[in-house]
Amino acid sequence: MMYKQVSEELLSLIQQSPSCFHAVRTISALLEEAGYTQLNECDSWKLEKGGKYYTTRNGSSVIAFAIGEELDDYHFQLTSSHSDSPTFKVKERAELKGKGGYLQLNTEGYGGMLCATWMDRPLSVAGRVTLRTADGIEIKNVDLCDPVALIPNVAIHMNRNANDGASFNAAVDMLPLYALGEGEKVTLRARVAEALGVRDTDILTTDLFVYNTQRGIEWNGMISAPRLDDLQCVFASLCAFIESGKSGEASGAIPMFCLFDNEEVGSQTKQGAASTFLCDVLERISGAAGLSPAEHRRRIANSFLVSCDNAHAVHPNHTEYADRNHSVFMNRGIVIKYNANQRYTSDAVSAGIFRLVCEKANVPTQYYANRADMPGGSTLGNIANTQVSLNTVDIGLAQLAMHSSFETAGALDTYYLVNALSAFFGMKLCFAGNGKYRLG
Ligand code: ZN
Repeated sequence: MMYKQVSEELLSLIQQSPSCFHAVRTISALLEEAGYTQLNECDSWKLEKGGKYYTTRNGSSVIAFAIGEELDDYHFQLTSSHSDSPTFKVKERAELKGKGGYLQLNTEGYGGMLCATWMDRPLSVAGRVTLRTADGIEIKNVDLCDPVALIPNVAIHMNRNANDGASFNAAVDMLPLYALGEGEKVTLRARVAEALGVRDTDILTTDLFVYNTQRGIEWNGMISAPRLDDLQCVFASLCAFIESGKSGEASGAIPMFCLFDNEEVGSQTKQGAASTFLCDVLERISGAAGLSPAEHRRRIANSFLVSCDNAHAVHPNHTEYADRNHSVFMNRGIVIKYNANQRYTSDAVSAGIFRLVCEKANVPTQYYANRADMPGGSTLGNIANTQVSLNTVDIGLAQLAMHSSFETAGALDTYYLVNALSAFFGMKLCFAGNGKYRLG
């Protein structure tokens, strides 16, 4: 894929993925187009050599894998990324009556957003609903597309301290304005029903999130868009995964693309990285291959996970927040993340292997570590490892304003990650004994 095409397609994927449910639907469609067959976790699976499959959990997480034609001593080579981003969830009773007839959306925060960036932006609502049917329920995604709400700032004249460090109360300052008065009231539920072409009485309940309607842009070698954390890594790993399936050159490993929900709220859900989702799928693949539990564990021991989640680029106005020797920059390649307290999984072995993969792909790498007096964040790698322990490296792409409603990253870095992960999926990594590891 050409560099220019990469940015365009990334921005298109972001536009089509206003919520985690939409991200999964967009990705499922791309997998279907590339010949992957959906498996339902509730069915029994018949997996065949040469088959390409994916399964989803909760409509918000995905695991896809391809089984090669010649797989004798296979193991797994995986990527992980996350489908969710910080936002505001609309509560079940969606409207709040304010003074002066204002109608507001009744919301609560999801994840650790930068509140100021959500102000004065045209916001829409997307997510999923359950509908009443003749014999049960039906789950449907919905996107209102048009702006329907906005969180207004308080004018500087009324809050003279607004530029001196702000504090935001989620229950007071962050409620989106929805309508001006009772007379103009169209309930959010009625709008959702209209968008779906159903009666609002058919809607049983909802998982609806607010999103920034602003379209992503490319400018001066950078991209700015909502949800770059983590859709930039999602997009790059998906491209590399699908490309690896097209080439037909079996590396002898089973490539897997894993996308988890709920990273922004700690991953401890049935569809998060701390769930059994990955473990369950791995066991089902080995079960279909007739492997004993001990043999399955041997394959796991030889497997490798690249945990992909964006990293903090040095801030142009605040270079002091970065460690002096571990500052990372946009468009300078893939960031390998280290943390002594194991918030990141990278160690000398996994990082060494991944560096070599990048070298073979002609992709530059850079090293990230927090300033020693700053705790920083964590991500998927070590969380997934609590359920199924794999050799894992934590990597990402350098970006600014993480958890803003409009983030900025390097356009070239997406291309680098596609190339690095294509190389990763195209080679067989395995322990060769005596402290040696082979990249085939
Ligand atoms: Zn992230």
